[in-house]
Amino acid sequence: MKLQGQIALITGGSRGIGRATALAFAREGADIAFCHLNDGAKADETAAEIAALGRRALHRSVDVSDIAASKAFAAEVAAAFGPVDILFNNAGMNIRKPFEAYTEADFDAIVGVHLKGMFFMAQALYPAMVARGSGCIINVASQRGLKGAVNSAVYSAAKAGIMGLTRALAWESTPKGVRVNAIAPGPIDTDLTATMDAADRQAFIDALPIGRFGKPEEIAATALLLASPEGAFYVGATLSPNGGDVMY
Ligand code: NAD
Repeated sequence: MKLQGQIALITGGSRGIGRATALAFAREGADIAFCHLNDGAKADETAAEIAALGRRALHRSVDVSDIAASKAFAAEVAAAFGPVDILFNNAGMNIRKPFEAYTEADFDAIVGVHLKGMFFMAQALYPAMVARGSGCIINVASQRGLKGAVNSAVYSAAKAGIMGLTRALAWESTPKGVRVNAIAPGPIDTDLTATMDAADRQAFIDALPIGRFGKPEEIAATALLLASPEGAFYVGATLSPNGGDVMY
């Protein structure tokens, strides 16, 4: 197994991409700690599936935009499971509006979960990774951070920031044994995209070379590549499984 005996901390692990990644990592031998936001029933289901794979699971409702709460969760996980080997920095949400309608509160909420939340969760775990000379951090960005999107100015800006953070941290962390990369998914069928207007969704599909939304498992496969020994040469990279939405 590719992640035998490793400890993974996944933010936003109760459903969607985080859940699929939790199960992919557990299948490869990792114990999984994850947080979510007030999603206890789905979190219990995910934890039961991890346990059925023979791995330990621990979950809490922790708002990743609350830095003190994130740091407390990171410390709790290390005390319960031991040092964290892999951080899958994934928790996210969006507020869709025209540019001129965004308020400062909207801006702070979106940037708080994505850019600030990912920055400080990584910071909470990084010193212990450096002390051990090994670790893997995977930040979930978006194709919207690469090409932008209507009604998602703050989200797109935050996701572009996450790719910048990934590259900056990788310069510092790689000589210390900590690999940092990002994933920029295209449109994936999860609760996040389930609220899209049907006409908008069809227009999106019509514009995609692959002609469909992706599945959470297709992002989990990329996460597993980056976390496993086969991904060792990726440094500060942004991998974008996106059905052809952005080609580069
Ligand atoms: P989802 O809505 O299915 O799951 C989101 C997860 O994040 C849930 O576990 C939720 O409880 C958690 N969460 C939300 N806000 C939180 C907070 N403040 N603190 C802690 N946990 C919080 O969404 P998803 O589609 O699986 O999204 C996962 C990541 O992938 C996000 O970062 C999202 O921006 C990114 N992404 C998704 C798509 C897509 O099309 N679905 C595309 C590109 C990027």
